[in-house]
Amino acid sequence: MDIFSHFLSGYVLIELLNVRGERREALILGAVFPDFDFALELTYLSLKKGLLEALREILTCDFQQVYHGTATHSLIMAPLFALAPMFIVGRRIEGKNYFYSLIGIYLHLFFDGLSRGNMLFWPVICSFINVDLIPTLSPFYPLFFTLIAIPLLIYRKIIRGEGEGII
Ligand SMILES: [Zn+2]
Repeated sequence: MDIFSHFLSGYVLIELLNVRGERREALILGAVFPDFDFALELTYLSLKKGLLEALREILTCDFQQVYHGTATHSLIMAPLFALAPMFIVGRRIEGKNYFYSLIGIYLHLFFDGLSRGNMLFWPVICSFINVDLIPTLSPFYPLFFTLIAIPLLIYRKIIRGEGEGII
C-alpha cells in the first residue's frame, strides 16, 4: 500500500478510536514508519550508484521483492521499531505512546499483507506472506481511506469543534 494510504489508515483509526494527545501522532507515525526502509535503501543506492540509477532501481519490482518489506515489516521486529515513533513523538519512554506506535506498525503490516506482502517473520523465515487481494499501488486504497477520512475530519473539526492535534 502507498504511504499516503498508510497515513490515512492511521488517521481513520485514531478518529474511530477517539485517540487523543501524543498518542495520535505515535499511531500515525507508526502507521507510516515501516516504509522508512525505502528512504534507507534510496540513500544507500544513491551513494553507491548515483540518484538517477538508484531511483530507476528502486522502482523496479526486483528491488521491492529483495529489500522492501523485510526487517521493518516483520512482526518479530515490530516491538523494536515501535520505539522510534515513541521517541520521536514524546522524546521519552512512555508506555501509552509505545503501545499506539506498535498498533500503528501492526496496522501498516496488515494492509501491506493485503497486497504485496511482507516478510512477517523476518529474520526467522525469509519469505513474503500475503493474500494478494489488492495490487500494491491500486487507487482503491487512497480512494477508500479518503472517503472515510473526510467525514471523520469534518465531524471532528466542525461538529465537535476540536482543532488541536494531527490534521
Ligand atoms: Zn510497507
